[in-house]
Amino acid sequence: MNPSPLIDHAPLRVTIWNEFVHEKQNPEVQKLYPRGIHGALAERLAGPGLALRTATLEEPEHGLSAEVLRQTDVLLWWGHAAHEQVSDEVVRRVQERVWEGMGLLALHSAHRSKIFRALSGTSGKLHWREAAERERLWTIDPAHPIARGLPETFVLPVEEMYGEPFMIAGDAHVVFLSWFEGGEVFRSGFTFQRGHGRVFYFRPGHEAYPTYENPHVLQVLRNAIHWAAPILSAPYPKTHRPESLEPIEEKAGTYGKAGIVTP
Ligand code: ZN
Repeated sequence: MNPSPLIDHAPLRVTIWNEFVHEKQNPEVQKLYPRGIHGALAERLAGPGLALRTATLEEPEHGLSAEVLRQTDVLLWWGHAAHEQVSDEVVRRVQERVWEGMGLLALHSAHRSKIFRALSGTSGKLHWREAAERERLWTIDPAHPIARGLPETFVLPVEEMYGEPFMIAGDAHVVFLSWFEGGEVFRSGFTFQRGHGRVFYFRPGHEAYPTYENPHVLQVLRNAIHWAAPILSAPYPKTHRPESLEPIEEKAGTYGKAGIVTP
């Protein structure tokens, strides 16, 4: 048996995917994100140890060809208005890569994206209100790697409200909790694993507010990229194992391949 090969390359290869719709249709969003949310994140998350690239819905294969995904350790996903325009084939491809070990960060309204719902196994439904209200985030698992360097609590002066109940997977591990000016609470940052891949959902990031300028929000994303990085350098190539590790004693009767005794 070969030991599992551990990932040994640096820098981490990060692809930031954005549907890039609001920025082209809404002048206020365009002012906030002249190069798109993906462009802003690529600029603001840039730093040692990370090789960032971007991809958008309008590119061939949404910029997520098999080759790009093979070269991606962690994928960030921002989508809202065009979830249904994402091709099922690309969604399946991303899902396969997560199962193989690629990390996925689902941002803000990605809770209703095809890929988040496929991986979570839930609808991702929630309550929402767009009223420029104050959001207070609480770091409720300060020992988690994604919470490294974050304060116990921090405030975003204006955000969209997302409220509970939030239809998420039962195995979600909550790292951040939000309280909103209007009274609602929300599980704003949580992790789960599917196959070998780690998934992190992070709520803040409404397109009409300057959330991705907030240093705490950027710190969460930076931490999450490192946390979600693959542990293994390659997927397990073989599933059929004809040679046994221990001798297998002969049984009476004739067994077919499915283990069924034939008379
Ligand atoms: Zn939003």
